[in-house]
Amino acid sequence: MRNRPDHDGTHRLAFDRNKKKIMVTQSVCGICGLPVDKSLKYPDPNSACIDHIIPIDRGGHPSDINNLQLAHWKCNRAKSNKIIFSVNRKTGTGEETKVSTNNSNRIFPLSCNWAEYRSKS
Ligand SMILES: [Zn+2]
Repeated sequence: MRNRPDHDGTHRLAFDRNKKKIMVTQSVCGICGLPVDKSLKYPDPNSACIDHIIPIDRGGHPSDINNLQLAHWKCNRAKSNKIIFSVNRKTGTGEETKVSTNNSNRIFPLSCNWAEYRSKS
């Protein structure tokens, strides 16, 4: 009986299908390049998740497989934080120089914020 807007259901279905496809065909995190252990379950920071290569709020397609990739959950989070960092850079705070030199070992500097992110979503 419900006449849902087309974009809602269609993208959801397509996303779901592409997610399954990616889970089967991909095994490496598209962000850090390391293998993803698919046996780990959310909210484990190393669990598998689907990352939007171009974030939806930056005009990326919400369900096109070409905009989706396998990623660690923690890397996906770190990526969205990076966007915030690059905005902060313009305000000239000295703090995030430390963050960018820390890039190689990928230790998530804001681990205490996970809980906040989770409760928001
Ligand atoms: Zn990763």
